[in-house]
Amino acid sequence: MNLVILIIFITSILIWRLLRPKIKGVIGEKTISAILYFLDGSKYKVINNIVLKVGTKTSQIDHIVVSDFGIFVIETKNYKGWIVGAENSEYWTQVIFKRKERLYNPIRQNLGHIKALKNCLREYPNIEYKSIIVFPSKTEIKVNTITDVIYSHQLLETIRKHSAVNLTETDKENILQKINASNLAKVYDRRQHIKSIKQSIRKREHSIDENKCPQCGGDLIKRNGKFGKFLGCSSYPRCKFSRNV
Ligand SMILES: [Zn+2]
Repeated sequence: MNLVILIIFITSILIWRLLRPKIKGVIGEKTISAILYFLDGSKYKVINNIVLKVGTKTSQIDHIVVSDFGIFVIETKNYKGWIVGAENSEYWTQVIFKRKERLYNPIRQNLGHIKALKNCLREYPNIEYKSIIVFPSKTEIKVNTITDVIYSHQLLETIRKHSAVNLTETDKENILQKINASNLAKVYDRRQHIKSIKQSIRKREHSIDENKCPQCGGDLIKRNGKFGKFLGCSSYPRCKFSRNV
Protein backbone atom coordinates (compact mmCIF):
# COMPACT_ATOMS: atom_id res chain seq x y z
CA MET A 1 0.00 0.00 0.00
CA ASN A 2 2.79 2.43 0.95
CA LEU A 3 4.55 1.59 -2.29
CA VAL A 4 1.46 2.57 -4.30
CA ILE A 5 1.31 5.93 -2.53
CA LEU A 6 5.01 6.44 -3.18
CA ILE A 7 4.59 5.64 -6.87
CA ILE A 8 1.63 8.04 -7.17
CA PHE A 9 3.65 10.71 -5.37
CA ILE A 10 6.69 10.32 -7.63
CA THR A 11 4.55 10.25 -10.78
CA SER A 12 2.76 13.47 -9.73
CA ILE A 13 6.10 15.20 -9.18
CA LEU A 14 7.36 14.08 -12.58
CA ILE A 15 4.18 15.27 -14.34
CA TRP A 16 4.29 18.60 -12.49
CA ARG A 17 7.95 19.11 -13.45
CA LEU A 18 7.16 18.35 -17.06
CA LEU A 19 4.20 20.73 -17.29
CA ARG A 20 5.37 23.49 -14.93
CA PRO A 21 7.02 25.80 -17.50
CA LYS A 22 3.95 25.59 -19.75
CA ILE A 23 1.46 26.17 -16.90
CA LYS A 24 3.50 29.09 -15.57
CA GLY A 25 3.65 30.78 -18.97
CA VAL A 26 -0.09 30.49 -19.41
CA ILE A 27 -0.81 31.69 -15.84
CA GLY A 28 1.53 34.67 -16.39
CA GLU A 29 -0.30 35.79 -19.53
CA LYS A 30 -3.74 35.10 -18.06
CA THR A 31 -2.91 37.24 -15.00
CA ILE A 32 -1.96 40.18 -17.22
CA SER A 33 -5.19 39.89 -19.26
CA ALA A 34 -7.09 39.86 -15.94
CA ILE A 35 -5.31 43.05 -14.82
CA LEU A 36 -5.99 44.76 -18.18
CA TYR A 37 -9.66 43.96 -17.72
CA PHE A 38 -9.78 46.76 -15.11
CA LEU A 39 -9.07 49.45 -17.74
CA ASP A 40 -11.98 51.69 -18.76
CA GLY A 41 -13.36 49.92 -21.84
CA SER A 42 -14.50 53.15 -23.47
CA LYS A 43 -10.90 54.45 -23.58
CA TYR A 44 -8.86 51.26 -23.78
CA LYS A 45 -9.41 48.22 -26.02
CA VAL A 46 -7.39 45.12 -25.16
CA ILE A 47 -6.33 42.36 -27.58
CA ASN A 48 -4.49 39.33 -26.17
CA ASN A 49 -2.18 36.98 -28.06
CA ILE A 50 -1.54 38.43 -31.49
CA VAL A 51 0.47 36.74 -34.22
CA LEU A 52 1.55 39.01 -37.08
CA LYS A 53 3.40 37.96 -40.18
CA VAL A 54 5.80 40.29 -41.98
CA GLY A 55 7.42 38.60 -44.99
CA THR A 56 8.57 35.23 -43.69
CA LYS A 57 8.94 36.42 -40.09
CA THR A 58 6.20 35.99 -37.50
CA SER A 59 5.89 38.07 -34.33
CA GLN A 60 3.95 36.85 -31.33
CA ILE A 61 2.71 39.75 -29.20
CA ASP A 62 1.33 39.05 -25.70
CA HIS A 63 -1.03 42.05 -25.34
CA ILE A 64 -1.94 45.16 -27.31
CA VAL A 65 -3.99 48.01 -25.80
CA VAL A 66 -5.44 50.40 -28.38
CA SER A 67 -6.38 53.59 -26.53
CA ASP A 68 -7.21 57.27 -26.90
CA PHE A 69 -3.59 57.86 -25.86
CA GLY A 70 -1.86 55.62 -28.40
CA ILE A 71 -1.07 51.93 -28.58
CA PHE A 72 0.53 50.03 -25.71
CA VAL A 73 2.49 46.94 -26.70
CA ILE A 74 3.03 44.68 -23.69
CA GLU A 75 5.61 41.93 -23.39
CA THR A 76 5.38 39.69 -20.33
CA LYS A 77 8.39 37.86 -18.94
CA ASN A 78 7.73 35.18 -16.36
CA TYR A 79 11.18 35.11 -14.75
CA LYS A 80 12.24 34.58 -11.14
CA GLY A 81 15.32 35.94 -9.38
CA TRP A 82 17.20 39.11 -10.27
CA ILE A 83 16.94 40.64 -13.72
CA VAL A 84 19.91 42.79 -14.67
CA GLY A 85 20.15 44.73 -17.93
CA ALA A 86 20.38 48.01 -19.82
CA GLU A 87 18.24 49.69 -22.49
CA ASN A 88 20.41 48.82 -25.49
CA SER A 89 22.46 45.76 -24.56
CA GLU A 90 21.71 42.70 -26.67
CA TYR A 91 21.26 40.41 -23.68
CA TRP A 92 20.09 40.73 -20.10
CA THR A 93 21.05 38.48 -17.22
CA GLN A 94 18.86 36.51 -14.89
CA VAL A 95 20.58 35.73 -11.59
CA ILE A 96 18.99 32.91 -9.66
CA PHE A 97 20.61 30.95 -6.80
CA LYS A 98 24.03 32.35 -7.83
CA ARG A 99 23.45 30.93 -11.31
CA LYS A 100 23.42 33.28 -14.29
CA GLU A 101 21.24 32.81 -17.36
CA ARG A 102 21.15 34.96 -20.47
CA LEU A 103 17.93 36.28 -21.94
CA TYR A 104 17.47 38.32 -25.10
CA ASN A 105 16.84 41.97 -24.13
CA PRO A 106 12.99 42.11 -23.96
CA ILE A 107 13.04 45.82 -24.93
CA ARG A 108 14.68 44.86 -28.24
CA GLN A 109 12.28 41.95 -28.61
CA ASN A 110 9.31 44.27 -28.10
CA LEU A 111 10.75 46.81 -30.59
CA GLY A 112 10.54 43.98 -33.13
CA HIS A 113 6.89 43.49 -32.18
CA ILE A 114 6.19 47.22 -32.56
CA LYS A 115 7.90 47.20 -35.96
CA ALA A 116 5.60 44.37 -37.10
CA LEU A 117 2.57 46.25 -35.76
CA LYS A 118 3.68 49.50 -37.47
CA ASN A 119 3.89 47.57 -40.72
CA CYS A 120 0.35 46.26 -40.19
CA LEU A 121 -0.90 49.78 -39.39
CA ARG A 122 1.17 51.69 -41.95
CA GLU A 123 -1.93 53.67 -43.01
CA TYR A 124 -1.72 55.37 -39.60
CA PRO A 125 1.78 56.91 -39.44
CA ASN A 126 0.95 59.16 -36.48
CA ILE A 127 0.22 56.48 -33.92
CA GLU A 128 2.24 56.75 -30.71
CA TYR A 129 3.55 53.34 -29.63
CA LYS A 130 4.42 52.65 -26.01
CA SER A 131 6.49 49.62 -25.12
CA ILE A 132 5.95 48.04 -21.70
CA ILE A 133 7.89 45.05 -20.33
CA VAL A 134 6.21 43.33 -17.39
CA PHE A 135 7.81 41.02 -14.82
CA PRO A 136 5.99 39.23 -11.98
CA SER A 137 6.00 41.11 -8.65
CA LYS A 138 8.25 38.48 -7.04
CA THR A 139 11.11 39.22 -9.46
CA GLU A 140 13.86 41.71 -8.51
CA ILE A 141 14.21 44.10 -11.44
CA LYS A 142 17.68 45.68 -11.48
CA VAL A 143 17.62 47.53 -14.78
CA ASN A 144 18.33 51.06 -15.86
CA THR A 145 16.11 51.87 -18.83
CA ILE A 146 14.07 54.62 -20.47
CA THR A 147 11.44 52.09 -21.61
CA ASP A 148 8.99 51.04 -18.90
CA VAL A 149 10.24 47.81 -17.35
CA ILE A 150 7.81 47.21 -14.52
CA TYR A 151 6.21 44.79 -12.07
CA SER A 152 2.76 43.44 -12.93
CA HIS A 153 1.17 45.41 -10.04
CA GLN A 154 2.39 48.66 -11.68
CA LEU A 155 0.82 47.92 -15.06
CA LEU A 156 -2.41 49.94 -14.70
CA GLU A 157 -0.70 53.06 -13.31
CA THR A 158 1.96 52.80 -16.06
CA ILE A 159 -0.74 52.77 -18.75
CA ARG A 160 -2.86 55.47 -17.08
CA LYS A 161 0.02 57.95 -16.69
CA HIS A 162 -0.36 58.78 -20.40
CA SER A 163 -3.06 61.39 -20.97
CA ALA A 164 -2.20 63.15 -24.24
CA VAL A 165 -4.91 62.23 -26.74
CA ASN A 166 -3.46 60.56 -29.85
CA LEU A 167 -6.30 58.64 -31.52
CA THR A 168 -9.93 59.46 -32.33
CA GLU A 169 -12.81 57.06 -31.75
CA THR A 170 -12.89 56.25 -35.50
CA ASP A 171 -9.12 55.65 -35.58
CA LYS A 172 -9.43 53.27 -32.65
CA GLU A 173 -12.19 51.27 -34.32
CA ASN A 174 -10.38 51.03 -37.67
CA ILE A 175 -7.13 50.08 -35.97
CA LEU A 176 -8.83 47.34 -33.94
CA GLN A 177 -10.42 45.92 -37.07
CA LYS A 178 -7.12 46.02 -38.92
CA ILE A 179 -5.26 44.22 -36.10
CA ASN A 180 -7.95 41.57 -35.71
CA ALA A 181 -7.99 40.98 -39.48
CA SER A 182 -4.18 40.56 -39.53
CA ASN A 183 -4.04 38.42 -36.39
CA LEU A 184 -3.01 34.89 -37.34
CA ALA A 185 -3.19 33.52 -33.76
CA LYS A 186 -6.38 31.54 -34.41
CA VAL A 187 -5.12 30.21 -37.75
CA TYR A 188 -1.86 29.15 -36.07
CA ASP A 189 -3.67 27.42 -33.21
CA ARG A 190 -5.87 25.58 -35.66
CA ARG A 191 -2.90 24.57 -37.82
CA GLN A 192 -1.07 23.32 -34.75
CA HIS A 193 -4.17 21.40 -33.72
CA ILE A 194 -4.60 19.77 -37.14
CA LYS A 195 -0.90 18.91 -37.18
CA SER A 196 -1.13 17.09 -33.85
CA ILE A 197 -4.24 15.17 -34.94
CA LYS A 198 -2.50 14.10 -38.15
CA GLN A 199 0.52 13.04 -36.13
CA SER A 200 -1.53 10.85 -33.81
CA ILE A 201 -3.29 9.20 -36.78
CA ARG A 202 0.06 8.49 -38.38
CA LYS A 203 1.37 7.02 -35.13
CA ARG A 204 -1.70 4.81 -34.89
CA GLU A 205 -1.33 3.53 -38.48
CA HIS A 206 2.37 2.90 -37.96
CA SER A 207 1.62 0.90 -34.81
CA ILE A 208 -0.94 -1.26 -36.67
CA ASP A 209 1.57 -1.82 -39.50
CA GLU A 210 3.98 -3.18 -36.90
CA ASN A 211 1.25 -5.48 -35.58
CA LYS A 212 1.09 -3.61 -32.28
CA CYS A 213 -2.16 -2.46 -30.70
CA PRO A 214 -2.29 1.39 -30.87
CA GLN A 215 -4.31 1.48 -27.63
CA CYS A 216 -2.30 -0.74 -25.29
CA GLY A 217 0.83 -1.82 -27.20
CA GLY A 218 -0.15 -5.50 -27.09
CA ASP A 219 0.27 -7.81 -30.11
CA LEU A 220 -2.43 -7.78 -32.79
CA ILE A 221 -3.88 -11.09 -33.90
CA LYS A 222 -5.88 -11.98 -37.03
CA ARG A 223 -9.21 -13.44 -35.99
CA ASN A 224 -12.31 -14.82 -37.68
CA GLY A 225 -15.52 -13.12 -36.65
CA LYS A 226 -19.16 -13.21 -37.55
CA PHE A 227 -18.59 -10.51 -40.15
CA GLY A 228 -15.33 -11.82 -41.59
CA LYS A 229 -11.65 -11.52 -40.73
CA PHE A 230 -10.50 -8.79 -38.38
CA LEU A 231 -7.44 -7.68 -36.43
CA GLY A 232 -7.94 -7.85 -32.69
CA CYS A 233 -5.83 -7.13 -29.65
CA SER A 234 -4.25 -10.07 -27.82
CA SER A 235 -5.25 -8.42 -24.54
CA TYR A 236 -8.94 -8.88 -25.32
CA PRO A 237 -11.27 -8.58 -23.34
CA ARG A 238 -9.16 -6.04 -21.33
CA CYS A 239 -8.54 -4.09 -24.56
CA LYS A 240 -11.32 -3.89 -27.12
CA PHE A 241 -9.29 -2.61 -30.08
CA SER A 242 -10.24 -4.16 -33.38
CA ARG A 243 -10.07 -3.29 -37.02
CA ASN A 244 -11.38 -4.85 -40.20
CA VAL A 245 -8.90 -6.30 -42.65
ZN1 LIG B 1 -4.90 -3.47 -27.09
